Amino acid sequence: MTPLRYAAILFIFLINVLLTTALAQSILGFTPASAAHETAVEGKFKSIPTPDEERRQHRIFTQEPHVAGSKRNNELAEYIRDEWKKQGLEDVIIRRYDVYGTNPKSASLEMIAPTHYTATLRETPLPGDDDSKNPAISGAWLGMSISGEVTAPVVYAHSGNPEDYDLLRKNGITVKGKIVLVRYSNPYSYRGFKALTAQREGAAAILIYSDPAEDGYKKGKVDPDGPWGPEYKIQRGAITYDFMVPGDPQTPGWASVPGAKRIPIEQALSAPKIMALPLSWHDAKPLLENMKDDGPIAPENWQGGLPFPYHFGGERVKVHLKIEMDNGVQPYYVVEGRIRGAELPDEWVVLGNHRDAWVFGGVDPSSGTASMMELTRTLGQLAKAGMRPRRTMVVCSWDGEEVGLTGSTEWGEQFADELRAKAVAYINVDEATSGPNFHGQAVASLAPMLEETTRTLQNPDPSGKSLYAAWKETIAREKEAGTQSGPFDSGVANESLADTRIGSGSDHTVFLNFIGMPVIGLGFEGDYGVYHSGYDDFYWMNHFGDPGYKYHTLMSQLWGVTALRLANADLLPFDFATYAANVRQFVQELANKNKLVILSGGEAGAKDPTKDCTACGASGTASKPLNLTDVQIAIDAFETAGKKLNESLKAKLATGPLDPKLALTLNHGMMQVERNWLNPDGIPGRPWFKHILYGARFTYAHLELPGLTEAVEARDWPTAKQQAEILAHALQKNARLLDELNAKLSSPLTGSGTPFLLEHPQSLTR
Ligand SMILES: [Zn+2]
Repeated sequence: MTPLRYAAILFIFLINVLLTTALAQSILGFTPASAAHETAVEGKFKSIPTPDEERRQHRIFTQEPHVAGSKRNNELAEYIRDEWKKQGLEDVIIRRYDVYGTNPKSASLEMIAPTHYTATLRETPLPGDDDSKNPAISGAWLGMSISGEVTAPVVYAHSGNPEDYDLLRKNGITVKGKIVLVRYSNPYSYRGFKALTAQREGAAAILIYSDPAEDGYKKGKVDPDGPWGPEYKIQRGAITYDFMVPGDPQTPGWASVPGAKRIPIEQALSAPKIMALPLSWHDAKPLLENMKDDGPIAPENWQGGLPFPYHFGGERVKVHLKIEMDNGVQPYYVVEGRIRGAELPDEWVVLGNHRDAWVFGGVDPSSGTASMMELTRTLGQLAKAGMRPRRTMVVCSWDGEEVGLTGSTEWGEQFADELRAKAVAYINVDEATSGPNFHGQAVASLAPMLEETTRTLQNPDPSGKSLYAAWKETIAREKEAGTQSGPFDSGVANESLADTRIGSGSDHTVFLNFIGMPVIGLGFEGDYGVYHSGYDDFYWMNHFGDPGYKYHTLMSQLWGVTALRLANADLLPFDFATYAANVRQFVQELANKNKLVILSGGEAGAKDPTKDCTACGASGTASKPLNLTDVQIAIDAFETAGKKLNESLKAKLATGPLDPKLALTLNHGMMQVERNWLNPDGIPGRPWFKHILYGARFTYAHLELPGLTEAVEARDWPTAKQQAEILAHALQKNARLLDELNAKLSSPLTGSGTPFLLEHPQSLTR
């Protein structure tokens, strides 16, 4: 080898080393020195959680049924408190909320015509699964059903959504005073929405059953031989109308601390006023089977997995239904602990998982609870070893998530002001693991940092690929199968992996929609047919969900590393240019679906859209068009400022250590952005839901630009105009805020930046 060639090889080698080091140590929001330190801390963090510990914790939480408000669930709260103290968490406390709870007393269902059948309303034990023999397993019940007794004919109403009743009406079938039998999915809608719809239709009661086409034998092998739901599987659940206002129905918008003011339950918007009961397909089959010759045959898409044609019914099949509930005020307990931040104790990263389960909660939520216990053990060890996070990490075990998201909602309402002042973000894990396929949700500003984080974790399959690579494959597979509901189908932010469309249905709701905190949600998913049943247990997890507890372990690592990055960043890793791109996409979709025309900035000056009715609603009957030009201009301004901020933050970080005062100013400014999406008046008709970008439909489905979208869909143009103005003002406000931050970064006096004051949200309506 010539000396020259040797030098060239050495040079290439050195470049490679430098590049690898730079890549390994470049982390969004960190200076090079902090990134090197962070990499070491994360390495230590990732080395601590073990599958054995995950499994040990999982067994403790799945040992006995622990529904919200039960003795066992309260004992588990004390167990978590004691463990956290041992693990080294600080300020560990159990907080009590006196809320309107729900418990079953008794239920019976008998078919009295054309033949006699008594529903079992129980889940039979499965061979090999000893937990399924536990006499403490509840029978069939739905939380927040009212008590009552009725004898009436049964109508099959498909999925129980409004369009299903329209079709029944077209066929001359009314459900008034009758009992409706609906299935859980096809398409999916939250069971509480099905109950409200039946109540509005005047039905006497609603029976919701699990059709084998959706999560039973039509999908594959059933428990105990496979992951799908067996014949007797019952999906319990609450029917609280928490899409109106979550939490304790008697304290809408304030915390149910002991002694709090309570409205009468009759006046509570979220309290159902209908009897409701879930059924296994075993118990639904005799009803459906006896509807033959009863009314016309139901259409193709109403047919299910049972081996006979489904009819509308309504005359021939009569049942006697009796439900006795014990609904009333009872305590729920939230466990709270923290690792105090070493440098910025008044900036919080909040983590949470619910503790209550319908029965054992193998997946939902005990997989998440096990992962949380390993996460807290690891955080405790790190703190003891002197690796305390810069910001405070607050960890919570919620209660009553399954009953209207109650524990997190009451806690959030209690500490709303403090959280608006201090919180950086909330990271939720509900069902941590039902299989190997990762799904991550994030408000758009945190999507890039979440994706970056998954690059540093290893997926536990033999290929040794990163979690990021595995995630990408999952999304591609689902896209191909057409089952993907995330960003790919919409093209948001150039094929980003994180799902930036966030609906309701878990504990992130109060933080995002009421408090205005950025949220992240993490979960590994797979074939899972035993949701909310007694079969969702330790056996199921060890045979199908995560037999080696490797994905539980990965969840502890991922959850922890994501939290550490938010807790340790020099400058918070928000990406507002991505946020702007998402908002533009949301507006574009709304416009496309409803045939609204958006004028570009240049056209806006030239054209008066009130004269050019191309912007009218699709119905063509609207006399006034909806002009989204101001919204569009404001998005452009927000995006421009966001791009500039991304660049200048990057440049600032590259120069090394930051002036603490400037960092504080920038970070508090960035924290304010999410708060600025709140309208204190809330979205029209649902004042509790204050976020103007993110909301949820009554079905729990994600609903972007909720106030504007619902007004447009209702062809309510005056409200739509007002909501568009609110949106434009919020975008302008955030564009100005980012401009201010950019100015502070480019000013030669940046070293003495004045602290940015966090404001309370003011009314955005002028
Ligand atoms: Zn859950």
